[in-house]
Amino acid sequence: MQRQTPEGVVLACDFCGTDWDMEIPMIEGHKGSILCLNCLARAIDEAKDATEGFMCTMCRQDYDAGQKCYAPIERPANANPDAVICWDCLQQADRTFARDKDTEWERRIDPTKKWR
Ligand SMILES: [Zn+2]
Ligand SMILES: [Zn+2]
Repeated sequence: MQRQTPEGVVLACDFCGTDWDMEIPMIEGHKGSILCLNCLARAIDEAKDATEGFMCTMCRQDYDAGQKCYAPIERPANANPDAVICWDCLQQADRTFARDKDTEWERRIDPTKKWR
């Protein structure tokens, strides 16, 4: 998510609103959507089946109810009020962070055929 400030454009996590300070690892999705490592951890723990259809903020795909996803219960003022992430994107982020040498992250989701 991009936010305009007097100092310029600030990148922030869509899910918690934390500004990208180059310290917390973050992953960029489509259209400048961003997920930070802290939110990935929370998302994996708290993901559940959607009660209604949704569009994933990260990959912009439409999903039907019943798909596993994560939407924050509490959204800070800076966060994207509509942010939702699908399980597919969580698997991808889990794998990407685990492969990033600069990030201390071990895979929490078992590899699948698609996301080895
Ligand atoms: Zn976050
Ligand atoms: Zn997605």
